[in-house]
Amino acid sequence: MKLHEYQARALFAEAGIPVPASNVAFSASEARGVAEEIGKPVVVKAQVLVGGRGKAGGVKLAQTPAAAQEAAEKILGLTIGGYPVEKVLVAEASDIEREIYLGAIVDRDARRILLMVSGEGGVEIEEVARTNPSAIHREYVQPSGVLDAHQGRRLGFMLGLDWEQVRKFEAIARSLVELAVRTDASLAEINPLIVTPEGELRAIDAKVNIDDNALFRRPALAGLRNSEEETGPERRARESGISYVKLDGNIGCMVNGAGLAMALLDVIKLQGGEPANFLDVGGGADAAQVRTAMEIILADPTVKLVLVNIFGGITRCDEVARGVVAATTGLDRNVPLVVRLVGTNEEEGLEVLRDAGISAYTGMVDAVNEAVSRAAA
Ligand code: GDP
Ligand code: MN
Repeated sequence: MKLHEYQARALFAEAGIPVPASNVAFSASEARGVAEEIGKPVVVKAQVLVGGRGKAGGVKLAQTPAAAQEAAEKILGLTIGGYPVEKVLVAEASDIEREIYLGAIVDRDARRILLMVSGEGGVEIEEVARTNPSAIHREYVQPSGVLDAHQGRRLGFMLGLDWEQVRKFEAIARSLVELAVRTDASLAEINPLIVTPEGELRAIDAKVNIDDNALFRRPALAGLRNSEEETGPERRARESGISYVKLDGNIGCMVNGAGLAMALLDVIKLQGGEPANFLDVGGGADAAQVRTAMEIILADPTVKLVLVNIFGGITRCDEVARGVVAATTGLDRNVPLVVRLVGTNEEEGLEVLRDAGISAYTGMVDAVNEAVSRAAA
């Protein structure tokens, strides 16, 4: 789950990371009001769930409240990375001497939080990794989840900061790691963390992504979800406990089990087809759940046919087959169905499907071959 900068800044402030005074505004006149409250030159920034706003014209400095209003008017009309800008952040502007990158990510291979810094702040870290990898310095956080003071200091010295700045940097780095642990963030990033001409360190951008799988134990954070992050079908899937990821092809896929779903996508591609989605209906999915999954798949207008791949273990194949038949009668859209069914009571299951006029197989490759050729027709 992605947070907007203004939401991430609030988490930063709570964690004790220095951030300039700011507030979010939903109209140009509100932006003017915030600038008046701040009473200093401000920066007006598009609040969208993608980076690179600076380059897209979504970040503008304004000396006066009137200029802030004008900047907000321009920014609120933009579309950045496919997202129309509906709100702006108005923040006290900072003078910048240096821009630093500081980010904490979960390194799944190392099973640790990895803290990364680079002296090339303001530039995306992926780009630094490509063009100047030696500019990136790394420290792994111990499993305790606490950054050791010497690790923070080492990174500060690698950046060429002076003693006083290293002390401040170390506190910020420690707080960022603490925040990442406390929020179950997959990413917590300050880009740029700036050094002002007075030698102060401040976060002037804030990015936090929360691991969706941890939200059940972070109810306060779950409430921060932004509706623009998901399409309607994606939201419906999440709320129904269905794992759904839209892909680019035209073969809709419904599978019970994530591993089996992955295998199906591989076989479709191997046989020359293109899957329209990944979908795992879950273990003991009943007819109602299958129906919901079918509606989610069919909400995608590029789907030409639906391929169902079910392993009947605890749930018997004949029950699943009856569920599929029930779930597909009376739908808004009528697309061909191809089913692969294997497991307990598969013979009865195949019979139920064939009686309903649905192509059914026990072999995955057989079912995929039919789906691929019919989707290409
Ligand atoms: P992003 O492009 O979406 O990552 O947006 P950022 O918040 O990182 O802003 C992009 C760039 O705008 C920064 O790297 C800075 O160079 C500049 N910028 C942002 N805020 C200020 C500010 O308060 N003062 C000055 N002088 N420049 C700023
Ligand atoms: Mn940035």
